[in-house]
Amino acid sequence: FNTGMAERVSRKLQLESELHLALTEKQFVLFYQPKVDVASGEIIGAEVLLRWQHPERGLISPAEFIPVLESSGLIVDVGRWVIRESCQNLQQLVEQELWGGGMRLSVNISPRQFSGQDFVNDVKNILQYVDIPENSLDFEVTESVVIHNVEETITTMTTLTSMGISFSLDDFGTGYSSISYLKRLPVSTLKVDYSFVRDIVDDHSDRVLVETIITMGKLLNLDVVAEGVEELAQLKMLADFGCHYYQGFYFSRPVPLGDFMNLLIKA
Ligand code: C2E
Ligand code: CA
Ligand code: CA
Repeated sequence: FNTGMAERVSRKLQLESELHLALTEKQFVLFYQPKVDVASGEIIGAEVLLRWQHPERGLISPAEFIPVLESSGLIVDVGRWVIRESCQNLQQLVEQELWGGGMRLSVNISPRQFSGQDFVNDVKNILQYVDIPENSLDFEVTESVVIHNVEETITTMTTLTSMGISFSLDDFGTGYSSISYLKRLPVSTLKVDYSFVRDIVDDHSDRVLVETIITMGKLLNLDVVAEGVEELAQLKMLADFGCHYYQGFYFSRPVPLGDFMNLLIKA
């Protein structure tokens, strides 16, 4: 134990208490990043991304605070808020006729939230009080939800699937990727991680990896979404590989709800 460690611990505790406050003081906001059809360029849905509007530090990225929410257990409350708020916003988009049939809104679910005792009931409760179309909600989970208990994961996913929620496997290829999970889990979409898409133009092995993931996804009848597309050259390559959908700065950064509505109006 040294001063460096003491400082880190105290900074983490400070952050935790600030995050508690953030929830009650309504400092969290949701941003939306469109998902786009590679072939037609049409918006086919969006991913919801959490932001923290800190009173002094401004907009804070989830990469900085999600791990603290996870380790403190606060993710359960914040995650519930994210789902509820996303559904309410989705209802608003539907009411304004901006949300087409077949479009899906994807919400990130963290492992601790997913395996929480009340997760399925929380989702049921939320869905009772909103009016959104059948099959318009998607949950993005990483392979790490599976590690602890495969059977339980499958049960939870199957229950939610029967409620019209689809699943995307996020960050595919970065973790403990076991291809055998892919066969067993009721997922409809594979997300190719940003870290692989980033260098496909210059890096031969990343290119092979991305093409392989896309091909495998298609052979397993899964939709494939490539994330982190920043340039036309990457998009062209993904189109050549037969990738269905993409998201990334090339089309749009994650934006606040109002800006997202404008993107939908223009589309
Ligand atoms: P993720 O699910 O892999 O989300 C994709 C990240 O890539 C987002 O970062 C997004 O802003 C970023 N991104 C999108 N397009 C581009 C691009 O073209 N170039 C680059 N450089 N980056 C791009 P963000 O919003 O900072 O989120 C980071 C991570 O935080 C997410 O990674 C996700 O794991 C987590 N997260 C975000 N919102 C939530 C949430 O509501 N709940 C949970 N549990 N986790 C969340
Ligand atoms: Ca995601
Ligand atoms: Ca990712």
